[in-house]
Amino acid sequence: MNATGGGLYDVAVVGLGPAGRALASRCAATGLTVLALDPDPAAPWRQTLSVWADQIPPWLRHEACGVDVLAHTVPDAALYAPDRALLHREYAVLDNEALRRALPLGPGVTVEHAEVDDDAVRALTARAHRVVDCRGAGGRRNRGPLQTAYGIVVDAADAVPALGGENALFMDWRTDYVRDRDDDDDEAGPSFLYAIPVGPDRVLLEETCLAGLPAPDPAVLASRLRSRLAGRGVAAEAIASPLSVERVRIPLLPRPGVPEDPLVEAFGTAGGHGHAATGYSVAAMLAAVPGAVHAIEAGYPLPAPRSPLSTALHGVGLRALLRADDRTLRALFNAFGRLDGRRQRWFLDAASPSYQVAAAMWGMWVSMPARAKAGMVAAVLRPSARSSVGAPATTSGDARTVPVEGQ
Ligand SMILES: Cc1cc2nc3c(=O)[nH]c(=O)nc-3n(C[C@H](O)[C@H](O)[C@H](O)COP(=O)(O)OP(=O)(O)OC[C@H]3O[C@@H](n4cnc5c(N)ncnc54)[C@H](O)[C@@H]3O)c2cc1C
Repeated sequence: MNATGGGLYDVAVVGLGPAGRALASRCAATGLTVLALDPDPAAPWRQTLSVWADQIPPWLRHEACGVDVLAHTVPDAALYAPDRALLHREYAVLDNEALRRALPLGPGVTVEHAEVDDDAVRALTARAHRVVDCRGAGGRRNRGPLQTAYGIVVDAADAVPALGGENALFMDWRTDYVRDRDDDDDEAGPSFLYAIPVGPDRVLLEETCLAGLPAPDPAVLASRLRSRLAGRGVAAEAIASPLSVERVRIPLLPRPGVPEDPLVEAFGTAGGHGHAATGYSVAAMLAAVPGAVHAIEAGYPLPAPRSPLSTALHGVGLRALLRADDRTLRALFNAFGRLDGRRQRWFLDAASPSYQVAAAMWGMWVSMPARAKAGMVAAVLRPSARSSVGAPATTSGDARTVPVEGQ
């Protein structure tokens, strides 16, 4: 029954991040009545969201929805670990505003400004036939493994020395930064440079810790980034006065301790759509939207993000990332660079079936040298994660891309 007619909503969606907004919008597009709740539904998404261009689902392509959600694409991003490999797959930065336009909250969606706790989420079962928790991975309340990063956006001309002739750097694990007592690779943990054009004339240069528990504070990564960029010849002025700054804090696992409730389901990072070993989630959740809408329409449970075995394999990957020493990690990504494109995709795509994830991981394993294999076994068996200086990350919000003038 239509909510405006006084009956229950077909579905209540709690949280209007990328997952909740996509679910609410597509449910409404199929004629379902939707109640959507978020403390600040109009808040812009400030994070630089990237996907592989081929992951854009058909319904979200320009020709289908009339909106081009891609801000910029780049072919053949490079990986250095330290051997060079090119990833022959188009990498894309999303235009967040365009993405929101492509996911309209039209007349079928009743939006309420509300911060909803676990009890209040459960209480929504009195207002809607289905309740879907899309509140994300819990922000600062999530004390689990994190990906942290510090990035600056500079003019493309200023980024030329950092890119070293590459279109983009998907991961640059070379250690061409000054190591000293305050910022030592062993203490801060391994990190890599991510350098991606975010438009025709701007490039994001970001020092990233893929996984840490605790993860280094972005401030520690900032000093490593500055040292690395200066060493490559990026102009001091561009480093000191970037166009904007991005501080990254991504929980790699869903928030623990959310009470199980048969009447409340979860979607997006709240529902495990994030990839535990990469931090990517957006492509996977967008791809999962039609299946989730169909399940809501038909009265079925929401489909799981992937098989339990795939999730377990991602967990093994995360365990290794959290515990491996620098040398072993670099050997791991060297091996990743040697995989064929198909296996790279199988590992990176968050919804890959378990045989694909296993095949990709096996492919990495067999091409690693014996010493790195021993390092991997030791890492997986090690009871606790590496420690890192500057942790835990406490100085920044989950996502802040702020104009420098505004800091
Ligand atoms: C700087 C940065 C860069 C990133 N880059 C990438 C990338 O390149 N590719 C990628 O795939 N991922 C990236 N990520 C991760 C990505 O942003 C998240 O995985 C994604 O936003 C998760 O979407 P979500 O909708 O599940 O959750 P969220 O984006 O966390 O949205 C949750 C929503 O729920 C609302 N909410 C929270 N609590 C409540 C409550 N109590 N009541 C009601 N509403 C609530 C929030 O206001 C928010 O709107 C990045 C993250 C950061 C921080």
